[in-house]
Amino acid sequence: MSADQEAINGLREALRVSPNNIPLRIHLAQTLASFGHLEESETEYREALSIAPNDINLKLGLADVYSRQGKNSQAMVVVEDVCSKSDAPGKAFVSYAKLLLREGDVSNAVAQYKLALEKDPGVADEELGLQLGVGAGYEDGDVFEGRVRESNRQTDDDSMPAEIERPKIKFEDVGGMETAKEEIGIKILYPLKHPEMYEAYGKKVGGGILMYGPPGCGKTYLARATAGEIGAGFISVGISDVLEMWTGSSERNLSALFESARANAPCVLFFDEVDALGGKRSDMQSGAGRHVINQFLSEMDGVDKSNEGVLVLAATNAPWHVDPAFRRPGRFDRVLFVPPPDEPGIAEILRLHLKGKPQSSIDFQKIAKKLKGFSGADVKAVVDQTIELKLRDAMKTGVPKPIETKDVVTVAKSLKPTTREWFSTAKNYAVYSNQGGIYDDVLRYLNL
Ligand code: ATP
Repeated sequence: MSADQEAINGLREALRVSPNNIPLRIHLAQTLASFGHLEESETEYREALSIAPNDINLKLGLADVYSRQGKNSQAMVVVEDVCSKSDAPGKAFVSYAKLLLREGDVSNAVAQYKLALEKDPGVADEELGLQLGVGAGYEDGDVFEGRVRESNRQTDDDSMPAEIERPKIKFEDVGGMETAKEEIGIKILYPLKHPEMYEAYGKKVGGGILMYGPPGCGKTYLARATAGEIGAGFISVGISDVLEMWTGSSERNLSALFESARANAPCVLFFDEVDALGGKRSDMQSGAGRHVINQFLSEMDGVDKSNEGVLVLAATNAPWHVDPAFRRPGRFDRVLFVPPPDEPGIAEILRLHLKGKPQSSIDFQKIAKKLKGFSGADVKAVVDQTIELKLRDAMKTGVPKPIETKDVVTVAKSLKPTTREWFSTAKNYAVYSNQGGIYDDVLRYLNL
């Protein structure tokens, strides 16, 4: 048996004993590749990825064997995926630059290589640098050229006025969510009402709350109620606004939004799907994306202007895609898990949505027991469908009858909670990348 084969067999044997040892799998895959067994190496990487689907080193290794086999487009897909993550390492951008160069896309290759050096100067690749003309001079600020150019393109255009709502709903219209209400009360509402208290203790007022959790659990609803609670204005910034920021007049929109909020203080500025703002690194080729993030962060820090009276709330279903820079002190320094409502919460939401509707002594607790895991929006859907059913009956018989417990239970049985899928994704992040215990609440909720 050749020495190569012996080494490979030894590694395979070791893997049989500990099949989930990812570093060992990487070592085997690399050894196979170094001996030219590229297909076998590819198989090893794929198998390892089925065990650890988010492992960046495995993905980059796989991309490397793809590209060595001439499968450039497959390699590109894998590398682009890695680079789109907020925690993508500098070396991923080096791989990306190499692939782009191989495809003849020199200008993007230069941009990605510069991004790689900006993230981690230690990944400098002399040969690639020479090929791209990004050489020794890059330390002289050249790497940051894109960003500097972007930030000099300042915003003297007319501000785009933001739409300001005056929400009517208050905390009492939001069922359950006690922890979130309390956090918002202490962190956002109390300082606004009693700034002197904060001054006395020398504590700076500021920062926002980032709410995360499965869809439909009331994050937006609660943000609106926060504004209603204190008679403040409400500006909602949705995904389409954010996408506009990514594609063109972004800086103007962002500063205009903060400007409108300041001019209308007290005002709640609510960013929905904030991960879209802080996570799409793949769109950062021109540096525009990075600039949007930087501008958002400096607006948040109130560097240029005071943010007094501007209450910043944000929500996301994908907190793992939010740039960690967002969570620094003074920014979204409170990250709040908003779970599906518990039984009393569900009963409360049922009561709120059935308020004013014809009903006869409904047993809210009994129904709530049948709606475990339902989001607030799911509970509302149960109520809406029950009302529709009763209306249809009334139209048939000509006699309107009050809603009863059994009507709601029948509808409840026909529907399923929409939150399960979110938890199956969240569980992976909570178990495998729970840096700083950020997802402890998710683990607690799942009894893990
Ligand atoms: P997404 O992540 O999809 O944006 P979300 O968490 O922001 O979801 P909302 O849009 O706030 O959820 O909730 C959808 C609707 O569900 C609300 O407009 C409201 O009618 C109802 N709802 C959700 N939670 C509650 C609650 N706690 N009390 C009363 N109604 C609620």
